[in-house]
Amino acid sequence: MSNINIKSPEVQIREVRLGSIIGFEGTAGELVRCARAGNLQDKSRSFSQCMGCSSRNAFCQLSMIKDAVVINHAPVGCSGDFFGFNFTYRVGQMERNLPPAIGRYFNTNIEEKDTIFGATQKLEATIREVYSRLKPNAVFITTSCASSIIGDDVESVANNLTDELGIPVVACFCEGFRSKIWTTGFDSAYHSIVRKIVKPPRKKSNKVNIINFWGSHIFDELLKPLGYEPNYIVPFSTIADLEYISEAAATIQICPTLGTYFGAALEEIYGVPEIKAPPAYGISGTDDWMRELGKVLGRQEEVEKIIVKEHIRVIPILEEYRDKFNGKTAYVTAGASHGHALIALLRELGLSVQGAAIFHHDPVYDNGEPDSDTLLHTINTYGDVHNYNVCNKQAFELVNILNRIRPDIMIARHGGMTLWGAKLGIPTLLIGDEQFGFGYQGVLNYAERILETLDNREFVSNLAKHSSMPYTKWWLDQSPFSFLGGNVHVEVY
Ligand code: SF4
Repeated sequence: MSNINIKSPEVQIREVRLGSIIGFEGTAGELVRCARAGNLQDKSRSFSQCMGCSSRNAFCQLSMIKDAVVINHAPVGCSGDFFGFNFTYRVGQMERNLPPAIGRYFNTNIEEKDTIFGATQKLEATIREVYSRLKPNAVFITTSCASSIIGDDVESVANNLTDELGIPVVACFCEGFRSKIWTTGFDSAYHSIVRKIVKPPRKKSNKVNIINFWGSHIFDELLKPLGYEPNYIVPFSTIADLEYISEAAATIQICPTLGTYFGAALEEIYGVPEIKAPPAYGISGTDDWMRELGKVLGRQEEVEKIIVKEHIRVIPILEEYRDKFNGKTAYVTAGASHGHALIALLRELGLSVQGAAIFHHDPVYDNGEPDSDTLLHTINTYGDVHNYNVCNKQAFELVNILNRIRPDIMIARHGGMTLWGAKLGIPTLLIGDEQFGFGYQGVLNYAERILETLDNREFVSNLAKHSSMPYTKWWLDQSPFSFLGGNVHVEVY
């Protein structure tokens, strides 16, 4: 049965919908086998150092719709992430030559007395005030633990204010305590867009939806010769852009961890075909992805020509990099699908991947297609990954592991993780633009940055000499998985 129900105000959380987990240690092959057999269990931690919040992930997608506003119905502390996304928004404007505009984010400041008497009146007043000041084309309300615990009827407020103001006022249910998997917040944001913003198609267009964060526009060059036009969603789009993404010829996901729900919903509800092959990271992965793109867009011949041309251009350069990286070791820490992509990239470049700390694991994506599994694709193409840890940014586990294996380089996807490698004197590379490693050129892009990082060890060496670790020798001598529960998995074959 489908998990996509736009009549429901709330999206089902990933634990329930996909069986996602945040705790595992073993090999990547074991993880995939258990997931396939349907007997993967979350290994709960008896100690947890930190936790993410779905509200942040929902906000990261909604906060950069250029003509919308976001109202966080929450105590003011839940809005601590506003400034970071406003920074990203401003940088993205400069990169796109857009006029400078500050993010339009508000908070209803739920206080103690509101938790007794309810805060819906405060929410209504905030929406009216925001509308009178800014005249946005849509208002998104992101919920919080507090608004949910006190049972505020946010959906009714949103529906009433939609009628009153004549613009979509949309509730996005993303309170942190609903889900241990913070990427549920992406699904919440997309659910609110699909159920309240997207309209049925009037005709088919030549646009291709690109579900991404705020990465570079690499798809312009790929799609134009094929007769198609990219439509980058959701950051930096407008409400009008989003209304007719139902008319697109296809949907590309830069990362299924991000777009699994959105891609599947657009296909299921509006018939927009999703490119289901794992995203194009590494040569073999790019070949497979390009062929599926060609099939869906009816451009197989053109795509085969591109593949041949790109192999001739890229592979000789790649061989040179492989010689340089021969014998080098790497460790990866990243979100799920992008982490799998980074493992593929590193192995394509000839580095030995000693292990990975990946933030969560989705045993299946919303399209239900087994071949979409990015981890399985990486294993099938490059072999199993040992020391594969599903770890939701628990730094104490990561530091313990890094201290033991001491790779030549750590590749990280999130800013807060890089310092742990650097403090240990391990050169650490973070690339925020997930499109940077995509496709044939992406392999070479990464190769160059890895080479630069390996050639510049002095900074991290000095940092390691002059910094201290919060973790004691006692902890570093323990198994990194001392706090990871025992209910692992059952081997089936
Ligand atoms: S919604 Fe809940 S988990 Fe998220 S920031 Fe607010 S209080 Fe914390």
